[in-house]
Amino acid sequence: MRVIRAAREMGIATVAVYSELDRNALHVRLADEAYALGGQTAAESYLNTEAILDAIRKSGADGVHPGYGFFSENADFADAITNMGVAFIGPPGDAIREMGDKVSSRRAALRGGCPIVPGTTDFVTTAQEITEFAATAGYPIAIKAAFGGGGRGMKVVHNAETVQEAMDSAQREAKAFFGRDEIYVEKYLTWPRHVEVQLVGDQHGNYVWVSTRDCSAQRRHQKLVEEAPAIAMGEGVEEAMGAAAVLAARAVGYFNAGTVEFIYQDGEFFFLEMNTRLQVEHPVSEVITGIDLVEWQLRVAGGEKLPMTQEEVTARRYGHGIEIRINAENPAGGKFLPSPGKITKLVPSDGFGVRFDSGYESGDEISQYYDNLVGKLIVWGKDRPTAIARTIRALEEMVVEGVYTTIPADLAILKHPDFAAMKHSTKWVEEVLDLSGIGVASAPTQDGDDAEPLVRRNTTVEINGKRFDVAMWVPEQTAVIASGPAKAKKPTRSSSGAGVGGGSGQVTAPMQGTIVKLMVEVGQEVEVGQAVCVLEAMKMENQILAEKAGKVTEIKVAAGQTVGSGDVIIVIA
Ligand code: ADP
Ligand code: ADP
Ligand code: MG
Repeated sequence: MRVIRAAREMGIATVAVYSELDRNALHVRLADEAYALGGQTAAESYLNTEAILDAIRKSGADGVHPGYGFFSENADFADAITNMGVAFIGPPGDAIREMGDKVSSRRAALRGGCPIVPGTTDFVTTAQEITEFAATAGYPIAIKAAFGGGGRGMKVVHNAETVQEAMDSAQREAKAFFGRDEIYVEKYLTWPRHVEVQLVGDQHGNYVWVSTRDCSAQRRHQKLVEEAPAIAMGEGVEEAMGAAAVLAARAVGYFNAGTVEFIYQDGEFFFLEMNTRLQVEHPVSEVITGIDLVEWQLRVAGGEKLPMTQEEVTARRYGHGIEIRINAENPAGGKFLPSPGKITKLVPSDGFGVRFDSGYESGDEISQYYDNLVGKLIVWGKDRPTAIARTIRALEEMVVEGVYTTIPADLAILKHPDFAAMKHSTKWVEEVLDLSGIGVASAPTQDGDDAEPLVRRNTTVEINGKRFDVAMWVPEQTAVIASGPAKAKKPTRSSSGAGVGGGSGQVTAPMQGTIVKLMVEVGQEVEVGQAVCVLEAMKMENQILAEKAGKVTEIKVAAGQTVGSGDVIIVIA
């Protein structure tokens, strides 16, 4: 949606691709043309290189914007596009590759002259190397997976006794999630802020950094609220950080938009990693500068020079921007459980300084297979207090029905004096903010018969005398009538929120996901409500609970295994 809008304003025609579930999604409706990739899961659709290359060939597209997720940080995909003679609207494949592994990115940052978190710049293979590092740096330390992401594959260690155990667990997790288990070690900061720098480079060696962003309000190392600029870091720190980010980018021959992430504590900042793509939170930088970053991405990919110098960009910065991620999640009790389903009503807020970037309208479905971001509320104010007050006003006006959302938690953050005083850190939402009382008063309303299943029917049409075979997706009932009597099937809807298995003793997966951990063994007695395993779905870990007391007679899955909605995980007799 974001890319289509910028392209349209520039007079560029757009082509969307879609999975089976997204056949009628908003981005498909908005694009000039759309091509089916087939499949439902990300692997079958948006991560299916062949199907995407095929859509490029068929449509004759001359550029590909990879968005924020999926293949946006995949060097092989970028190379495949470039090798077709089509512009990849992002950095060169080699820059993605070098920044893609945390160890080689640390080396690149150092080489460029950008300070990194104290730690190793080689993989570590023994517990002894880790204890030796800790002996000089001091505890706590973080053991991190070189190929980790999304906060996964990172273990914090507070003493020498637990090094071996944490190392094994970091390697296990990395192997299960990313297929590679190389690790390294760095100093762990105890009350840091997450501050990042948005930059853009062109293909002629010019760079500007557009703004800093503070993204310290996180849960499970994932961002909830982002703001620009990052304030209260001390005289000159912001400029030094911007310049350091450019040094890191230059070291790998980077061009197009990118973000260098730092952790900041007590006046010092350290390179964490580089995200070699446009980020979800880019609009806060746009609203304080008036720069359309996607327009710049398209211009850079077309070989143009950056339209502004660093001085011109700096002079444009005015006021404060805040972005709220509105996810389909139930934040009650600080649990943030995924809540996929149909959005029965969506009324975005409006008014001075308010922007809503979304991929959905009323009646659209948040699929369990993809990220559960419903939309982003982006607010501009002349200063931070004005922006906070305006964001609260806009959030209170917004209506989202049918799914739970993070809005109550976002409001709790915005209204807290620690947030107003910039006293929070990346640990604050989980360690200080009290979400036990936040009311998610009413259960999401799902109107029962909405999701009538569609079936494929082929027919032939003639347009201006030319014959076309077309596939139509029509309600099952219509197809049934056309093809003889059959019993109409009621759609099955997976339960949203907390995973609770059937009362029969068969504990089933409430949504598609990956089994992270089993918490019971065969033969063990369990209570009603006891957690039997952890299922990761939609970037969240969900505890699956027993609905019946008894003895575990069978375990049908193993850690690391992918399960579908409704699959039996454990049997209790
Ligand atoms: P950022 O570093 O920009 O904050 P996120 O971790 O929020 O990045 O991920 C960026 C976006 O990538 C998500 O909001 C989503 O749109 C997309 N994304 C990432 N992983 C998936 C996935 N498995 N399925 C669908 N979308 C995904
Ligand atoms: P990912 O690839 O998962 O985004 P990052 O290295 O960016 O990994 O770390 C994610 C988050 O974990 C950071 O935003 C920060 O909150 C925390 N973090 C990472 N490394 C450290 C560290 N050395 N000290 C303190 N917090 C850290
Ligand atoms: Mg990160």
